Amino acid sequence: MQQVITELLNGSYGDVRLNEPLAPYTTWKIGGPADVLLIPHDIKQLVSAVRLLHQHETPWTALGRGSNLLVSDKGIRGVAIKLGDALETVRFEGEYVYVGGAYSFIKLSVMAGKEGLTGLEFAGGIPGTVGGAVYMNAGAHGADVSRILQRVEVLLPTGELVTLQKDDLAYAYRHSILHTKPGIVTEAVFKLSYGDRKEIAAAMAAYKDRRLRTQPLQLACAGSVFRNPEGHHAAKLIEEAGLKGLRVGDAEVSPLHANFIVNTGQATAHDVLTLIEQVQNAVSERFGIRLVTEVLVVGER
Ligand SMILES: Cc1cc2nc3c(=O)[nH]c(=O)nc-3n(C[C@H](O)[C@H](O)[C@H](O)COP(=O)(O)OP(=O)(O)OC[C@H]3O[C@@H](n4cnc5c(N)ncnc54)[C@H](O)[C@@H]3O)c2cc1C
Repeated sequence: MQQVITELLNGSYGDVRLNEPLAPYTTWKIGGPADVLLIPHDIKQLVSAVRLLHQHETPWTALGRGSNLLVSDKGIRGVAIKLGDALETVRFEGEYVYVGGAYSFIKLSVMAGKEGLTGLEFAGGIPGTVGGAVYMNAGAHGADVSRILQRVEVLLPTGELVTLQKDDLAYAYRHSILHTKPGIVTEAVFKLSYGDRKEIAAAMAAYKDRRLRTQPLQLACAGSVFRNPEGHHAAKLIEEAGLKGLRVGDAEVSPLHANFIVNTGQATAHDVLTLIEQVQNAVSERFGIRLVTEVLVVGER
């Protein structure tokens, strides 16, 4: 690891931050340090960095906006890679939009609406990056990324840039092939359709209003903690098990939305994991259903 750190510091790979606490890089505001946090400024630096890490067999983890991540208290060994500004590009060409992996999914949704393009209204309340949304097949209000994605450019762990078509991504509910075959999404191409600006704006306003009423958006959280089991709503099961308001340390099952765990102050990853286990056990005892997390737990345990 020391050799890699020396090379990263002496070469042109972007910002290199050693022992960087990751809590500020997540929406839960939880997580220990990464040995190295690397922020490449452009695609060239990103590609050379991944090649270097490959040569040295150094593990890496991609970070988006950290809005679906629980980083452990011990943090991430190896290198956490966060895409820099140069991958925050966006270009509309007719019904197609070409967008960099670091671009905000919410901003993209707003821009598409202003262009009079429909298809991204669902993304208006999903506070991640395009890369994270492609990885997660993020979705809401009956739509998801798989409905509009055409293709993506992905940097493989070997440092090779490849194009994957939508069908190559093996999309399913909050799942893509990137969960098992890692790579860094550098650009996505979405195909939208021309629509009515007023209708698009009205749909987005209605979705926003619903979120403001039903989600604890003023508190640190990571959206839905559990996946919806087939034929059920995780939030409903948790609420019916009487778990709203259940706390471990500063982690709390939101009294507003039972599938959200909020950080009310100084919650640790350990607090959240303990609470997750308590919820899983209580729901399992009551309904015989084992809840599975949608949030991804990363880092040393
Ligand atoms: C208030 C709130 C509401 C939410 N509502 C929704 C919702 O309605 N629907 C929904 O689906 N999700 C929702 N989420 C969860 C989250 O916003 C999404 O899962 C989002 O797509 C994650 O993107 P991110 O950039 O934050 O990814 P991160 O959380 O940083 O990472 C998630 C995964 O993606 C990988 N990743 C990130 N960037 C890249 C990249 N460039 N290339 C390859 N892999 C990458 C990471 O390695 C990690 O495995 C919500 C979260 C919050 C806080």
